[in-house]
Amino acid sequence: MNELNIMGYTWNIEFREKRHVGATGLMDIDRQVIYIASDVSYEQQITAVLHEIVEAINFKCELGLAHNEIQALASGLFSAVRPNWTSLNTLDWNIKNAQVD
Ligand SMILES: [Zn+2]
Repeated sequence: MNELNIMGYTWNIEFREKRHVGATGLMDIDRQVIYIASDVSYEQQITAVLHEIVEAINFKCELGLAHNEIQALASGLFSAVRPNWTSLNTLDWNIKNAQVD
């Protein structure tokens, strides 16, 4: 089971063919399910996950972001996060385990 905790809410991530999702990503707010197209590229799937995360934050916080703003944030996050997974994990560990003298 693929799950994401977004602002305290658990969202299930389910993969379906794009013809069923209707886009690369789609969120069902009532069921807290994020559907991701399984038959698009890795980059499109990860960007879709990030897009739906931003969508969930936008909804929860009532930010009123326009869809192009959501897409820009998702693309920006993808560009920053994807090449830095390992560095972010290391940074996370280092910050958690930092010794303050
Ligand atoms: Zn969207």
